[in-house]
Amino acid sequence: MHSPLPDLRAVVYEHRPALKELSLELHAMPETRFEEYYAVEQLTDRLAAAGFEVDKGVADLPTAFTATHRGAADGPTIAVLLEYDALPGIGHGCGHNLIAAGGLIAALAAVAVRPGHAGMLKVIGTPGEEGGGGKILMLERGVFAGVDAAVMFHPADRSLRARHALAASHLRLTFHGVAAHAAKAPWDGRSAAAAAQLFLTAVDSMRQFVPPTARVHGIVTHGGDAPNVVPERAELDIYVREATSAALDELLVRVLAAAEGAALATGTTVEHAETAPRYTERNNNMTMADRLAVHSAGLGLELEPPSPANPAGSSDIGNVSVHMPVIHPYVQICPRGTPGHSAQMREAARTPEAHAVTETMATALAALVLDLLDDPEFLTSVREEFQTSVPACAPDRRQES
Ligand SMILES: [Zn+2]
Repeated sequence: MHSPLPDLRAVVYEHRPALKELSLELHAMPETRFEEYYAVEQLTDRLAAAGFEVDKGVADLPTAFTATHRGAADGPTIAVLLEYDALPGIGHGCGHNLIAAGGLIAALAAVAVRPGHAGMLKVIGTPGEEGGGGKILMLERGVFAGVDAAVMFHPADRSLRARHALAASHLRLTFHGVAAHAAKAPWDGRSAAAAAQLFLTAVDSMRQFVPPTARVHGIVTHGGDAPNVVPERAELDIYVREATSAALDELLVRVLAAAEGAALATGTTVEHAETAPRYTERNNNMTMADRLAVHSAGLGLELEPPSPANPAGSSDIGNVSVHMPVIHPYVQICPRGTPGHSAQMREAARTPEAHAVTETMATALAALVLDLLDDPEFLTSVREEFQTSVPACAPDRRQES
């Protein structure tokens, strides 16, 4: 089969103004997790106009959707995943406007160049990536059933085929004390704020004695109601992360023991709750990632191979990655070292350079999607890698297939 790159490039070039317009519109109207109504309208209107069958509000999530393009013959189901949520207070400081616009154009280009592809191309709109675990909810509710492989890309400060992502738990810790007058009778009180303070100190004391891959970080969301009252309640919003789900389980035991210890020392009590589904570490399918890198190199975009030196966050794609082969490559839109989730990243996500590199990535991604749909041998090698690389955290990994 001849390379579809020149044709894809021409089609993506035609879509260039649409990509830029959509990206800037989403950027100017940042919507936070599970409230991305405008983005969903924009994306699904364009997909429906191109002949995709649109299903909105899937998985009981009003801003989740699927859009399906059926090919001319039986074959696999390949998904292009879109994200479109922004960060509270920062806007599109993670550049999801580019993921949405670029992923959309990749799907439109793939079906425009090869309308008679085999199988099904599914665009899956996944809301609430930032702390909401939208993909995890969609996975649990069956939206990914029957999907053979899923692809997406993410903007960043460097261009990478893949990078590791940490398993993560998002917790709320609540300390309960006893209120009392802070001057007349403080001894009648037990300070929940003191417990929170002691807990944070305990976590800091632990840092040298946990693996370098461990991350424990967060904020105090409630520290009391008035300075002249012994705080009855204190609340922390924290993340605990580790390289693998198994290591995360071990770290969580230590972090929760520190909370219990802080409560014991201060005469308070503590309760904890996980406020979002737990994120799994990422299992990158390098067969797909390397093929994508070949396509992008053909377009002048080099994607570096993964390296442990690259810093890792967490994402709900990790949970998808233990059920099916996925890729989550990165394209550089800003100088190396630019912090993620920042105003600098937000400004970078609307520049002509960001749109140019998104266009290149969309073209390469479309070529990969056509490989997956129409080259059974390639898909077999993707599956073979998956079968041998799924981490131990996925005992039920085959439930979807
Ligand atoms: Zn992101």
